[in-house]
Amino acid sequence: MGAAQEAARSAARRRLWRIAAPIAVPIFAGFTLLVVPLAFIAGQAGVQASAAVMSCSVGGTAATVAGVDMDAVQMGRAQTITNIAAARGLDSYAATVALATAQQESRIRMLANDGSDPTLTSAQAATTTESLTYPNDGIGSDHDSVNTFQQRWISGWGFIAELMDPVYAAEAFYNALVEVSNWQTIPLAEAAQVVQVSAYPDAYAQWETFAAELTSMLWPAAEAAAADPGGPTAGVCGGLAVPPGSWIRPTDGVITSGFGMRNGSMHEGVDIAGPRDTPIYAAADGVVSRAECSSAYCDRDGNLGLGGYGNVVDIDHGAGESTRYGHMSSYTVTAGQQVSAGGLIGYQGSTGNSTGVHLHFETRVDGAAVDPMGFMAERGVDLNVQTAG
Ligand SMILES: [Zn+2]
Repeated sequence: MGAAQEAARSAARRRLWRIAAPIAVPIFAGFTLLVVPLAFIAGQAGVQASAAVMSCSVGGTAATVAGVDMDAVQMGRAQTITNIAAARGLDSYAATVALATAQQESRIRMLANDGSDPTLTSAQAATTTESLTYPNDGIGSDHDSVNTFQQRWISGWGFIAELMDPVYAAEAFYNALVEVSNWQTIPLAEAAQVVQVSAYPDAYAQWETFAAELTSMLWPAAEAAAADPGGPTAGVCGGLAVPPGSWIRPTDGVITSGFGMRNGSMHEGVDIAGPRDTPIYAAADGVVSRAECSSAYCDRDGNLGLGGYGNVVDIDHGAGESTRYGHMSSYTVTAGQQVSAGGLIGYQGSTGNSTGVHLHFETRVDGAAVDPMGFMAERGVDLNVQTAG
């Protein structure tokens, strides 16, 4: 590939990744109708509503689709798969084929692979287990198959690093699908089988109704994202109910690194690590003073060789106090915006100078970073408690 082609391809990929970050549209009002009764029924029955039902992510809210319970992680993966179809100008039916396939192959989860399949040589197993080093929603062990579509690197679907990228995975699926002659008119299971070369070709058909319903739920958001891929992501999660004037822990997760010297340089905040796309909330009332990508790129995960906070939000709380939120997968606010304590501002990611999904949280007084543990404790918040709020 020539340099110009390479640059164009990389620009297109950046755009696609941006598009893959789902944005909210009124369709999610429809989700509420589905989700609320579930939580209500669970509450009525005296049963603890499951975390899956109550959770939310950048991709959406848990929902029941054609009788199948989907958690927020699955809905987020499904939205990305759908968004890529819309971004490529494909018919929504392409998304239906992709979603039926992903449901059969992985239940729409980004699966790593532990390489334990006995058919793999030790060298093949070693390559396959590289998948464990990438963000995933669970672990499988079928041959060398990875990701939502269970694509195989040995069959030439791509390198493990590529296959564990949800955008690449969906693009690879659609690239193969559009090569299938009459894919729009032949039975769904037949089109999926040509792409997948599965050992169980008849299994795809059972998910057609489910996939069609899921597509109709997600397609309007996918089209909206394709039409306007720039700017902050519109959040689909609600904020926390917090009394005005109070301070809160800004996200769920465990503290993985504290304030102070680390490997010879100053770590000016605390790291709180939860699952990818865990919501991040404003720690207190204030005004957003910055919401931007502060690294060379934020369209994908960063690394230690990349400088900056990635997607970062600063909030000015007045009286010289401010908070900073780094490495977000995406943010939902813009500079100048007033936010309340507990308001959604973004999602946990690994953009910028980062090697894993977390929130880098700083507290500053007159611009100087102070230990968030003490700063927050003075305001009644114990950051060691693992949940937000
Ligand atoms: Zn940090």
